[in-house]
Amino acid sequence: MDDCIFCKIVSGEMPAAKVYEDEKSLAFLDINPVSPGHVLLIPKEHHQMMDNAPDELIAYLFTSAKKLMRKIKKSMVADYVVVSVAGMDVPHFHIHLIPRYANDGLANFWPTKKYKEWEMEQIAKKIRE
Ligand SMILES: [Zn+2]
Repeated sequence: MDDCIFCKIVSGEMPAAKVYEDEKSLAFLDINPVSPGHVLLIPKEHHQMMDNAPDELIAYLFTSAKKLMRKIKKSMVADYVVVSVAGMDVPHFHIHLIPRYANDGLANFWPTKKYKEWEMEQIAKKIRE
C-alpha cells in the first residue's frame, strides 16, 4: 500500500534497524520502544489486521516470533519477552516483541477490570456463539 509506513520499510523507501528478514517477513526495532530491543515483526505483504491475513501466513509469522523471542531474550538478557498484537497504531498487521525484566518498573500493559458475577458466563457465551 502506497501510504503505509511498514510497506515503505519493506520496499526500502523508509529506513529501519532490521533484525531479521526472509522472503515473507521482516523484523525491525520499534522507533518508540517500550524497552530497548522492542521489535516489530511484520509480513512483507500488506494486511491491515491479523484477521485479514491468511492462516498460513499467521502460522508462519508466529513461528518466526517464537524464534525471535528466544534471540531477543538471549541478546537483551531479558527475563521474558512479551508477544503482543495490538493493531491500533499502524494499519499493517504487526507483532510486538518486547523484552521485559522482573524489576523493570513497567506496569502491566492494560489496566484491568473486574466482571460482575453474572457477566462472565454471559460474555463467554457470546464469544463461543
Ligand atoms: Zn503496509
